[in-house]
Amino acid sequence: MNIWFLTGSQGLYGEDTLRQVAEQSRRIAEQLPVPVRWKPVLTDAAAIRRVMLEANADDECAGVIAWMHTFSPAKMWIAGLDALRKPLLHLHTQANVQLPWSSIDMDFMNLNQAAHGDREFGFVQTRLGVPRKTVAGHVSDPAVGARIEAWARAARGVAEVRALRLARFGDNMRDVAVTEGDKVEAQLRFGVSVNTYGVNDLVEAVDAASDADVSALVKEYAELYRVAPELLGERNESLRYAARIEIGLRGFLERGGFRAFTTNFEDLGGLRQLPGLAVQRLMADGYGFGGEGDWKTSVLLRTLKAMMPGGTSFMEDYTYDLTPGNELILGAHMLEVCPSIAAGTPSCEIHPLGIGGREDPVRLVFDAAPGPGIVVGLADMGDRFRLVANEIDVVAPPEPLPALPVARAVWSPRPNLRTSTESWLTAGAPHHTVLSTAVGREELADLADMLGVELLVIDKDTSTDRFVKEMRWNQAYYRLAQGF
Ligand code: MN
Repeated sequence: MNIWFLTGSQGLYGEDTLRQVAEQSRRIAEQLPVPVRWKPVLTDAAAIRRVMLEANADDECAGVIAWMHTFSPAKMWIAGLDALRKPLLHLHTQANVQLPWSSIDMDFMNLNQAAHGDREFGFVQTRLGVPRKTVAGHVSDPAVGARIEAWARAARGVAEVRALRLARFGDNMRDVAVTEGDKVEAQLRFGVSVNTYGVNDLVEAVDAASDADVSALVKEYAELYRVAPELLGERNESLRYAARIEIGLRGFLERGGFRAFTTNFEDLGGLRQLPGLAVQRLMADGYGFGGEGDWKTSVLLRTLKAMMPGGTSFMEDYTYDLTPGNELILGAHMLEVCPSIAAGTPSCEIHPLGIGGREDPVRLVFDAAPGPGIVVGLADMGDRFRLVANEIDVVAPPEPLPALPVARAVWSPRPNLRTSTESWLTAGAPHHTVLSTAVGREELADLADMLGVELLVIDKDTSTDRFVKEMRWNQAYYRLAQGF
């Protein structure tokens, strides 16, 4: 993936000035926090339109940064901006940091007039309704760099979801509402293709795993995790079957070009265990996952993992500690929490599972590492998709949890549990989420803008009544924005 860097100017200034523009533009491009492909300075409508069409057609181009170094009369940008289908960042910067006050003359003024040219460019973008992120300041300013980096991460996420293929093993858990959704709309809006496969297709791949491969993988488990002695002794066959699931599942996904998947404990066909360990390890390798057929959360998880390596997991709000003044959420799932958020070395264990009616499944057990993070949910509201995010602080569990046989995260939601949950419930946001300590709020907002999806954020400044008003305004806005 790469980002293209476009510079606007015009022919009026003459060859000498345009040479200086190009040279200074290259220097700005070199200072950007993300590697870019520098493109020759643009001075006419035909060249601008052509470069935008090339950006659209290049699968390796994740987005375009544009800067008007000098004055670039913006009618020449209309056809190009109208054609552009890739994320756009308008960088409002200039070559110099300080003005040379004692020597400044009209030549300098004419060369360095982004203050002028970028306003013209801002007008035409707004006039055309072009979605973009606007970032102002000198590129050497770390705050400017951070905002550009966030945008580039979101652009990577968009590129990923546009080409994403998701395999569902079984349909939704019966009668569950929030995991349903419009897959045709999802393919139009996000690009992802979501298709269901018979779980016995997976069983075939699982059964076909070779004993030698299973032995090698079990050895790897013993090196990476604290494996319970019983799994290396009298219950070794269960661990070997868990490895068999991983080999079969991984192979199925690789052969089909899938980077995200779902399972459903109600539809396991010939599988002897609910996939636990395998799902956890595939998530750690970057795959999207959703339990109970939840393809929307799986899509979101894969997209966030593509944006930023690090701690990002499938999550479910499970239960609360309502101690006044120290309210906490305990999140987990039946088995499937990603070890990328683990505080220490996970232990690999086997325990009974009350639902599913299969053999005891093998799973990794750990506490999530403390730190600031975000939980994000994706709901289908019927006329549109809605993202809801809550800024959180993952904390160490107040006490050890020796009787809880699953991986878990404990967090304090901002601004507090009452406001967070009242807002979350009012927004109709789901119980399945993606928890991330890697992806931040800014890149999430950039992602939502690029995809044209509503995003509601619950943070330290949220009050429930203002949040409800924002939802009402959004309801009107998104209905109107869809046209008639
Ligand atoms: Mn669930």
